[in-house]
Amino acid sequence: MPTAVISDVHANGEALRTVLADIEARGVQRIICLGDTVGYGPDPLECVDLVRAKCAWSLMGNHDFGVLYEPTNFNPGAESAAFWTRDQFDREENDALRAERYDFLGKLKVRMVEQMPQGAEPATVESILAVHGSPRRPINEYIFPDDASTSPDKIESILGRVKHICIVGHTHVPGVFTSEPDFYPPSELGEMTYKFSKGEKAVINVGSVGQPRDFDPRASYAILHPDRVQFVRVEYDIAKTASKIKAIPQLNNWLGDRLFEGR
Ligand code: ZN
Repeated sequence: MPTAVISDVHANGEALRTVLADIEARGVQRIICLGDTVGYGPDPLECVDLVRAKCAWSLMGNHDFGVLYEPTNFNPGAESAAFWTRDQFDREENDALRAERYDFLGKLKVRMVEQMPQGAEPATVESILAVHGSPRRPINEYIFPDDASTSPDKIESILGRVKHICIVGHTHVPGVFTSEPDFYPPSELGEMTYKFSKGEKAVINVGSVGQPRDFDPRASYAILHPDRVQFVRVEYDIAKTASKIKAIPQLNNWLGDRLFEGR
């Protein structure tokens, strides 16, 4: 059975609902989430409730951490969004629901080992490591596509902490880091699919549902199969999310504008 991997929803309810419908239409029944469900976007409560209801588990991203504990190394726009988001959690009048949401944030995992879905053939990979940022610093470290050429030592050090395959989010740029080291965006992979091979090591970024930054504004997620990962893009109502952002003074207008450009 395949597993859908979503990440970096960033409180974009339009994008999340569209992605969940796409996953359901494909008959994929299991979903996991790599974190940053909140932060930046206008629908934090809806997104947390959907992730709580639909995902087998979710990780702690730096924005989830920022809302629950404190925003660390956030730019002013991100910090303002984090405080506004916290206010939305606090304003919930239903005591039990407010407590449940905070409990969900407080119990987010920092790293998980996911057993691979089993297919007709024996799986190439038995289990994969899942973190929001990187295996070295699970919540905060970025693994950028450029690192493959400018910081090969960094990629080598990161892959040294991976047994086989690691899945991440955080940069909002989907693709595959291999041990050469090299980076392959989904568009350079046949059928947007990366096939696992025995003994190799790779870090796979599933991209962002709610704020893609690879200049493709469509929501990004991935589907894990026993022998491969398939990247998926879906169009959603960007204008609706952007107008909600612009109606909230604490959310910088740029947070809406950037969605149209995918950056
Ligand atoms: Zn993020």
